[in-house]
Amino acid sequence: MKKFKENVPLAKFSHYAIGGPARYFFAARSEAEVKWALREAKRRKLGVFVLGGGTNILVRDAGFDGLVLRLELKRMSGSGSRIVAGAGVMMADLLTRATGRSLSGLEWAGGLPGTVGGAVRGNAGCFGGEMKDSVRAVRSIDTRTMKIVTRPAARCGFGYRDSIFKKKNGTEIVLSAAFVLAKGNKTDIAKVIRERIRYRAERHPLEHPNIGSIFKNVPLHAIHKKGSGAYARAVAKRSLAYRGASFSVKTDPFPVLSAGRMIAEAGLSGVSNGGAMFSPKHPNFIVNALGAEAKDVASLIALAKAEVRRRFGVALEEEVQLL
Ligand SMILES: Cc1cc2nc3c(=O)[nH]c(=O)nc-3n(C[C@H](O)[C@H](O)[C@H](O)COP(=O)(O)OP(=O)(O)OC[C@H]3O[C@@H](n4cnc5c(N)ncnc54)[C@H](O)[C@@H]3O)c2cc1C
Repeated sequence: MKKFKENVPLAKFSHYAIGGPARYFFAARSEAEVKWALREAKRRKLGVFVLGGGTNILVRDAGFDGLVLRLELKRMSGSGSRIVAGAGVMMADLLTRATGRSLSGLEWAGGLPGTVGGAVRGNAGCFGGEMKDSVRAVRSIDTRTMKIVTRPAARCGFGYRDSIFKKKNGTEIVLSAAFVLAKGNKTDIAKVIRERIRYRAERHPLEHPNIGSIFKNVPLHAIHKKGSGAYARAVAKRSLAYRGASFSVKTDPFPVLSAGRMIAEAGLSGVSNGGAMFSPKHPNFIVNALGAEAKDVASLIALAKAEVRRRFGVALEEEVQLL
């Protein structure tokens, strides 16, 4: 018989290894189980939080007083250049499937942790690639009406780390996504993926529990107006000197400045609070260096926002989700 588990510690479901318990917890292995859990939550008047791989969430110390619904929809299908992946498929497994079928387009995601559902919802991206480049359609369920819809990518509202699913703030759950990829060379695809994984291992502080970059990179237009001479010069030179600091201008996916560099320039690299610390290796990562609590991380997030605003006059925006 299907049943919610009670009082389940969430720290073991978060890459941060931080956070209190979920009052109720259910792992759904099919769309029918997702529907059952949503109906049951509605009947009991519970708030619902959808959990993927837990690689981008900060769970409060008090935990979550509702239902945490973990999506374990792990089926993959498709032929030719198409792969349909359930929301609970790990991105690494999707890449293995694509490589095995000599399908190219997702190599940028080598080493990207988390699930297909989480990556679609946040339009995850790096190395010049984003989910939206390969997603052809997304199947999702509206948690209020229980209606299942399939949207073509053009109607998914994909933007910089954004989508219609993110905007709907938990009321629409990604069930699966269809990817259309290009025929490629298996050896070349595998090589690029390996390079991406190696790059991450070198640059990211993977020795400590973390949830990736805490903040989105800062759009260049937050400093110089789009269309201004200063904006155009910075884009052309791919660099910007500003308030005594120098930045490279990345175009990923549009002209941005590294939030990590701003945090470092604000003097916060290596600064810690409780068990949490701005990683000296990559200051946009706040790592769980030693038994950190959510409140330690939250206060460093507030500190980075205040100091970066003071130093550069820009507002940092969180990429991670608070649960
Ligand atoms: C070391 C490291 C490196 C990273 N590098 C990158 C990077 O290069 N680029 C990048 O974009 N991100 C990066 N991330 C962040 C993270 O990997 C991505 O955001 C990932 O896509 C999150 O997926 P997840 O399944 O872990 O989501 P979770 O952390 O479980 O959830 C994140 C949010 O998505 C929601 N969600 C999860 N599944 C669904 C679903 N099926 N339907 C609707 N909502 C859902 C959750 O409710 C939550 O709000 C990195 C993280 C780490 C730890």
